[in-house]
Amino acid sequence: MTAPPRPPSVDTLARSLSSSGLPHPILVDIARAAIDGGDIESAPARADEFRRTLLTPVVNATGVLLHTNLGRAPLAHHQDASAQTVEFDLSTGQRGSRQAAVGQLFARLCGAEAAMVVNNNASAVLLVVAALAAGRDVPVSRGESVEIGGSFRVPEVMEQSGARLIDVGTTNRTRLADYVAAIARPDVDAAIVLKVHPSNYRVEGFVEETGVSELATLDVPVVADIGSGLIDATCPWLKGAPPAWLAGEPAAVQTLADGADLVTFSGDKLLGGPQAGIIAGRADLVERCLRHPLARALRPGGLVLHSLQQTALTYLDRRVTTDIAFWKMVATPVADLQARADAIVSAIGDVRPTARAERTEALPGAGSAPGVTMPSAGVVVEGDVLDVLRRHDPPVIARSRDDHTSLDLRSVDPADDTTVIAALRR
Ligand SMILES: *Cc1c(COP(=O)(O)O)cnc(C)c1O
Repeated sequence: MTAPPRPPSVDTLARSLSSSGLPHPILVDIARAAIDGGDIESAPARADEFRRTLLTPVVNATGVLLHTNLGRAPLAHHQDASAQTVEFDLSTGQRGSRQAAVGQLFARLCGAEAAMVVNNNASAVLLVVAALAAGRDVPVSRGESVEIGGSFRVPEVMEQSGARLIDVGTTNRTRLADYVAAIARPDVDAAIVLKVHPSNYRVEGFVEETGVSELATLDVPVVADIGSGLIDATCPWLKGAPPAWLAGEPAAVQTLADGADLVTFSGDKLLGGPQAGIIAGRADLVERCLRHPLARALRPGGLVLHSLQQTALTYLDRRVTTDIAFWKMVATPVADLQARADAIVSAIGDVRPTARAERTEALPGAGSAPGVTMPSAGVVVEGDVLDVLRRHDPPVIARSRDDHTSLDLRSVDPADDTTVIAALRR
């Protein structure tokens, strides 16, 4: 009788997986799981599966420029491991404010007295409402009591901040008189009026909303959550007029000029920067936000501050369409995208003779400008090959419909076209 072959030791199996590039302790866990599962052959596949759970750079060929699941605005950011003046004043040698550098730049960009930044726009709204209205009332239009991105719900943010939401008007129509009446109610102690841009949906038909300039006639500070982070509706960084798809998007400069006392917006939507929330407007109100204990809990680290500073300097320098990936994608002429699509089709033609270039419609994404598209171009191949594309290294993320796979090139950096070709040739 011969003894059954002995399973390899956990350590030997782990070492045999070292080409996966994963650290040894992780490979030990994977080897142990494979041996315990009685399936030693599965170890390389398990290592591969694990590697695919890590944050991985991908080629975004979905045509959704700010793809929420792919990190919204793509951003190149590199920082040396050197000390930096996060909270240090170079002129006095004393402790400084971590908000000073980035705050002054965003104030300048938005035409505001002051600005500060927190981790995201949800925290910006939470902080503003907590600092200015805790224990008091905040009138909000019923048409703007929205949910954004699944977890940002205006009534819940209000509750967390300790302020009381006062519903104003109706879902489709809210007039200035409705706000006046709400504020005049004897049981209402309105601290601010909150206007929220319903970023990800649109009500059409018999609709009326009260604009910021009208709200500014009220006796209460107006806070506008514009969400998208468009800095200036005239887009002075673009050649020519602002694109049509931006028409419904509120912008920081104009909202403040219309009389908003504060605006809040995201850093990684139309601004094109890192995940952050920006609060800009009246200096006394920003100061109250800075002093609130939540400001400490919600403050960004040096990495984000530095990245935001670079983003703001890029805007002030008018290098937006060359240095901010999102705006570079927006500014690319369709003819360029078509030429790239044609080149890709001819490069893969021997393997996929049915591939063709086609006109497509790209989307801004991240809940910005719902229902609008921008002209684009891409490549369509027969069959649903999404899985194959995702398994390519680096993965390519596309979209499928009617047993076709569509790759939109507006969201793809031209340098990644070779990756798209290699993935499609598989
Ligand atoms: C996107 C958005 C938010 C949430 O912003 P995050 O940066 O994702 O936290 C809040 N309000 C509006 C109007 C938005 O569009």
